[in-house]
Amino acid sequence: MLGPVLLAASRSDRLRRVVAAAPVTRPVVDRFVAGDALHPAMDTVHTLTAGGLDVTLDHLGEDVTDRATARHTRDAYLRLLETLALAGLGDRAEVSVKLSAFGQALPDGGHDVALENVRAVAELATATGTTVTLDMEDHTTVDSTLAVLHELRRDHPGTGAVLQSYLFRTEDDARGLATAGSRVRLVKGAYKEPAHVAFQDRRAVDRAYVRALRVLFEGDGYPMVGSHDPRMIAIAQDLAARGRRAPGSYEFQMLYGIRTAEQRRLAAAGERMRIYVPYGADWYGYFMRRLAERPANLAFFLRSFAPS
Ligand code: FAD
Repeated sequence: MLGPVLLAASRSDRLRRVVAAAPVTRPVVDRFVAGDALHPAMDTVHTLTAGGLDVTLDHLGEDVTDRATARHTRDAYLRLLETLALAGLGDRAEVSVKLSAFGQALPDGGHDVALENVRAVAELATATGTTVTLDMEDHTTVDSTLAVLHELRRDHPGTGAVLQSYLFRTEDDARGLATAGSRVRLVKGAYKEPAHVAFQDRRAVDRAYVRALRVLFEGDGYPMVGSHDPRMIAIAQDLAARGRRAPGSYEFQMLYGIRTAEQRRLAAAGERMRIYVPYGADWYGYFMRRLAERPANLAFFLRSFAPS
């Protein structure tokens, strides 16, 4: 019940100010976010990669409403890619982007603004030997995001997409994307979606996840299993074994700070395991979605307000 309330709160500017100003917030945010800036995030990246984990970095930000901020997002990603290249991490670290931070929602030609901004990022990613994955946001953005994906993949075929199993359309989208060279991260979905586009029942979302997983593993693409759910992980491993997929022809992905022992266990078992590492000052929306996913996170957050 709390999940939808928190998801609605994740888009409230007033609450954003209250939560961000609370002195106790920071330690809780730090569980999910690898620092306010690139420098501390790179310490996390070095620790994770030294431990046999790959990473995808997210410079936090979303719902940008002016062109200048959209360009700042692009420039932050260019700096990030330069830093990864200098650190020699091109083959271990890629980047994840939210097109709403690149201007997708601008009323006047937002789609094209986002495409041009993200194209610059994809060009530098290719030049430095790495890739970009386009995160998926709420359902109103899916057509635009997949259109950007198709544009980028012409010159940058390694560009990845994200599909959300809670959307009715996803099984069809998965079929369209299960082609050679196509990198697809399958997740359950983190936004508050209406009943005419998305399953509302968790079990239905899980069943849809398994259906889409099967489509991706039976296809010719590169499935990226974005889930912490032990059942989904076991089913993916089973599909990989049945399809005789070699390790490295698919991967698991989890979020920074969530099920870290399981992350290490899968990597030690020979699976490719990639950690999604968010960093930056604009952590509010991301943080609230993590609270919404799990009531225990909210309890942990609220307990930190209690006097000790
Ligand atoms: P759940 O059934 O929600 O969780 C399974 C178990 O995982 C829980 O029992 C718990 O042990 C653990 N767990 C899950 N979430 C949390 C949490 N917040 N805190 C603590 N423990 C937790 N969503 C999008 O809509 N668009 C994206 O682009 C996107 N990218 C993602 C990238 C990665 C690498 C991952 C892992 C997730 C991404 N998500 C994205 C979020 C996703 O949609 C889900 O909201 C989230 O992963 C929780 O679903 P789950 O599959 O882990 O299963």
